[in-house]
Amino acid sequence: MSEENMVTVDKYFNFLREKKLMGSKCPKCGNIDLPPRRLCSKCISESEWIELSGKGILKTFSSIYVGAKAMTQKGYNRKKPYIFAVCQMDEGCSVSGQLIGVEEDKPKEVTFDMPVQVTYLKTQTGEDKEGNPIYRWDLGFEPQK
Ligand SMILES: [Zn+2]
Repeated sequence: MSEENMVTVDKYFNFLREKKLMGSKCPKCGNIDLPPRRLCSKCISESEWIELSGKGILKTFSSIYVGAKAMTQKGYNRKKPYIFAVCQMDEGCSVSGQLIGVEEDKPKEVTFDMPVQVTYLKTQTGEDKEGNPIYRWDLGFEPQK
């Protein structure tokens, strides 16, 4: 495979920045990995890029009251929890991320198998030498509209 088409983590994050959900598909066994993997997680063959629909269902979740530093900086705390979810995409692969667009302090209203769609979450991770913010893009989910 050419260097240009090779599945890499850097390219995955560049795609997220472009709001494009790219996974990897194994040409040998058909397995789809998300986040993408250069080598198939099932048979270790070289994978290829595949664009995913971004639609799926919520499989499980957890309410986080004491979160990672990046989340406390976003204002989440014991009184304002956030939800971290594992969702199964329509293509079959599962991936985790923050669930937004729900009442995060009322997790009883979040239901298993509810339809979700991918959203792209921007987090400031620091500043460059000139004081300009540096961002990271993460995968998140919201209820399907
Ligand atoms: Zn495979």
